[in-house]
Amino acid sequence: MNKQTRATAIKLFALTFFLSFAGCVTTGPGGKKSFMVIGSGQEVEFGKGINEEILKETELLDDSLWQAYINEVGQKIVAVCDRKDIVYHFAVIKSDQINAFALPGGYLYFYTGLLKKMDNEAQMAAVVSHEISHVVARHGMKRLQTAMIAQLGYAIVFGSESSQLTEAAVGIGMTLVFSGYSRSAEREADSYGIQYMTQVGYQPEGAVQMFEVLAAAGERDPNSFEKLVASHPETKERISLARQQIAQMAPLPENLTFSKDRYQTMKARLK
Ligand SMILES: [Zn+2]
Repeated sequence: MNKQTRATAIKLFALTFFLSFAGCVTTGPGGKKSFMVIGSGQEVEFGKGINEEILKETELLDDSLWQAYINEVGQKIVAVCDRKDIVYHFAVIKSDQINAFALPGGYLYFYTGLLKKMDNEAQMAAVVSHEISHVVARHGMKRLQTAMIAQLGYAIVFGSESSQLTEAAVGIGMTLVFSGYSRSAEREADSYGIQYMTQVGYQPEGAVQMFEVLAAAGERDPNSFEKLVASHPETKERISLARQQIAQMAPLPENLTFSKDRYQTMKARLK
């Protein structure tokens, strides 16, 4: 086998290996399915790698009560969500940025800058549900797999060294994870999020309040990849979609809560 044939064989093996995980998985409420070629195991490995990089660069909030609080709310929502084949990790980052994000594999982060803007637990739960929904819907992984297939296909046709190929895949992964989701992905995460938060007992109106608070916080930092603080026309659309969805959910269960008192106690600790 000459060098070129061997390189081609390696790439074909890589592609076959990659595609061997292919299958339809549940990616949303109501048994919604999507075709995924990257399995959960690979996704978790990938997420873990990025998470290690994140932890080198960020300072977690040094308050075990807050870390336990975000985890408690997060796990409560995970229990009703449509993806439970991975372990979810929730943490608070000490930073004035008004932001939150979810890495593939279930690593979710919330900035103190965002938490200080929230007024009740239902608003925070709306953000937490939204981030969980990105992981449930595999939004990041869907973009990564499209790009990786294109890259592998390109490499097989035109040939390139496999080290370059790996480098390219990692490069694509990092860029995609940090380049933000599409508008339709955001809409999907909003919609799933509202369902999940209501299922665990929060007032879905908290999601509308969350959008309003973040819209008032101003334009989105162009460096942040999560579009929670979006442009005004976009936020207006999200609010109206949320209102429509909530209206369709009527009659809402009784005893839904905003849990304001508990949140205010926790918020006071952030000062
Ligand atoms: Zn989002």
